[in-house]
Formats: sequence, structure tokens, C-alpha cells
Amino acid sequence: MAVTVLWPCMQKFVITDSWQDHINRPGYNAAYAGTDLAGAEQPLRGSQYDGRVLQAHWSTSGYGYTTFVEYGGVLRIRNAHQKNLGVKVGDAVNPETYLGTMDSTGNSTGTHAHFEVWIFTGGAWRNVDPLNPANGIVMVSLPEQLQPLGDEIIPPASTLPAFPEPVRVRPTAAVQSWINLRQQPFTTVPIIGKVLPGQVWEAYASKTDHLGNVWFAVRRGDIIGWAAAVYAGQLWLEVVQDA
Ligand SMILES: [Zn+2]
Repeated sequence: MAVTVLWPCMQKFVITDSWQDHINRPGYNAAYAGTDLAGAEQPLRGSQYDGRVLQAHWSTSGYGYTTFVEYGGVLRIRNAHQKNLGVKVGDAVNPETYLGTMDSTGNSTGTHAHFEVWIFTGGAWRNVDPLNPANGIVMVSLPEQLQPLGDEIIPPASTLPAFPEPVRVRPTAAVQSWINLRQQPFTTVPIIGKVLPGQVWEAYASKTDHLGNVWFAVRRGDIIGWAAAVYAGQLWLEVVQDA
């Protein structure tokens, strides 16, 4: 399972303090732990395809100018010590969005982005170390490396909406690899399942997301979820033609 997250810095940076370094500081509260990214002043951007600004303000607790963005109900990202605010509360955010410029405002001794990753899991938001593999975060450098949270975060109903008749589908020859899938019972951190070549799934319904990707509600054994059928214009699932 994994959630891909785009690094917020658009130019070269180095990690100067890890999440664990923050935790190890005397008196440091885990709720404020982050990863420090240092580099030249540079623009900061959104970390997923589709997000919404929760906070964009001057912090009285040392963050300086800070932004806090929620993505898909499962992921929140904070950037702190910004020079300015490129967004306001309620704004839509994506990897093209300018959040502000990296700087050293607030409780900071040099130009850096204090970067926090929060995941909704176990019924609560938790500040997690994005570089600890146990947390299921994969940091990526390019927007095209993102795997969309997409509609995976909305689980199919326990009774799947129905085609007139369920159809049997399988991965196309063009894909021959995994596709995103949410497993039931619903968990807050997406589970990325694999739909492998040679497997046949039952498909019950389809829907199209805001990016134009088509998802099928599928079942195989006791695994059900939404699987990409047409993704980025490419056919990922094809209907099995019975002989
Ligand atoms: Zn920090």
C-alpha cells in the first residue's frame, strides 16, 4: 500500500532535519514534527492532483507564514516558514499551484521548508514520517509519478451498484501491471491492490472521475474495490469475451 506525495520544492533541496530528528529534540511535540527541506528561495507547490487549502496564515506558534492543504480526505500537507502566501483558505490546489516561496519566517534560522505529512488513519489525523516505509508514503519528484488518490478514497457500497448483468474483465495486454484498487473493508489509508495479467474480475458498475478516468467497481473473491478501467486515456481493463 502506498500514497504517493510530491515533494513541495520545485528546485534543488536537501533534507537537513528528518521527522525523527524533530522528535528527538528535547520538548518537541510530535504533532509539530516535520521534515526540513533546505535550499535556495524557491516556489512551493501542491503535493497531489487535487486538494483544498485548510489554512493559509501567519502562525503564532513559530511556523511563520504557513499553508496546510487537504487532499482527498486522507492526506494533509503543511509547509512552514514561507516568505508569503500564494493561496487562501478554500482555494483548490494541484501540483501546478504556487503555494508561496520558501523562506525563513517564524521560528527558523535559515531558508527551508518545514514539511509535514498527515494521514487520516484509525479514525484520526496523524502526523507521520514520510520517509519511514511503515507509513506507506512514497515521495516522488515529478507530478507524472503521482498515483491519484482519485475515487479510490470513496469505497463502493457494500452492495455494489449493478450493471444489468455483471461483466467479467481482465487487465489489457497494454498494461500488464498493477492498477489501483481499494480493498474492503474500507480503510482510511488506501490499499493499492494488484490486478495481474491472467486474472479475471467481475465488474458491477462504472463511473468517471473528474480527470476523465473510468473506474469499475470490481470483485474477485472477497476483494472488492474501484479499479481503473480507462486511465490517462489508456485502456486498463477489457471485457472478457466468452467463447
Ligand atoms: Zn522543521
